[in-house]
Amino acid sequence: MTPSAFSYARPGNLDDAVSLLNDHGDFACVLAGGQTLIPLLAQRAVRPRLVIDINRIPDLDRIEIRPDHIRMGALVRQEQARLSSVVRAEVGGLSEALEWVASPVIRECGTVAGNLVANTPGSELPAVAIALGARFIVTDRHGERLVAAADLLGPGCRLAADALVTHVLWPRSPGLGGFYEVARRDGHAPVVGAMVNLGRDDCRIGLCGVTATGMACPTVAGAVFDRFPTALEPDEIDRLLARDVGKPFFGNAFVGAHYRREMAPVVIQRAIAAAARAGQRG
Ligand SMILES: Cc1cc2nc3c(=O)[nH]c(=O)nc-3n(C[C@H](O)[C@H](O)[C@H](O)COP(=O)(O)OP(=O)(O)OC[C@H]3O[C@@H](n4cnc5c(N)ncnc54)[C@H](O)[C@@H]3O)c2cc1C
Repeated sequence: MTPSAFSYARPGNLDDAVSLLNDHGDFACVLAGGQTLIPLLAQRAVRPRLVIDINRIPDLDRIEIRPDHIRMGALVRQEQARLSSVVRAEVGGLSEALEWVASPVIRECGTVAGNLVANTPGSELPAVAIALGARFIVTDRHGERLVAAADLLGPGCRLAADALVTHVLWPRSPGLGGFYEVARRDGHAPVVGAMVNLGRDDCRIGLCGVTATGMACPTVAGAVFDRFPTALEPDEIDRLLARDVGKPFFGNAFVGAHYRREMAPVVIQRAIAAAARAGQRG
């Protein structure tokens, strides 16, 4: 199919992009890497009147080290982030999770921020952002504000139509990070995936693939560090899943809800093991 007709704007700075979003809000779409948006346009699943291409806005393609976080611009590509030595050293588990996202060709175009904003069912990165406690710099006509990952990616949360994510802030060395997923094929969205962040006092878990709405379920266990590396017992994981996820496990024509539910504890244990290995290497 071909997209329905739309106008195209390619602002050269952030102010112009924000002003266009302010004027056209609900009828406009931001274009970053296009790996989610272009298929949606082609299927006419979205029919914006204006597409605002942000790729000419300067300085949004940088990964910068700040005292307590890594600041990643909205145009940083997934492959650029995966290969970054700063990301590998400072943001435990993100590089490893990026290896599971799509294929290198898609990752060369797709941005980290676009993946997070799209928050499609099964996307790996929202689960990573939740577990690591990432934050977003969101800009609109009122200026800039900081939004926690859980407030943008949690159930029922959505970025306002007139807002732009300019940066993702990843806490530096938040703990030991590990990611694991089960997928039907390499490069496909996970059936279930888990990101764990083993801190000194708790274990933060982000789950992907468990709900139909693209929600990355957050769950926090008590201190596991002392029992590391055996970490969480399967019974404890079951209790957490019942508490924090409950019913939303979804099934579709390919994978039933029951299978996802059964696989979740397995995937969490393997993500914990991956974090443990990262700790031994470090
Ligand atoms: C074949 C294929 C396989 C894939 N497999 C996977 C996979 O296994 N795992 C996975 O996680 N993803 C997968 N993806 C999705 C891919 O990672 C996309 O790159 C990503 O989801 C979107 O990033 P993008 O930069 O391309 O965003 P775009 O497609 O440009 O935008 C996506 C959405 O976010 C909005 N948006 C983008 N950037 C901003 C911003 N800065 N501020 C406000 N709104 C913004 C857009 O308006 C749009 O609604 C796959 C894609 C394809 C085509």
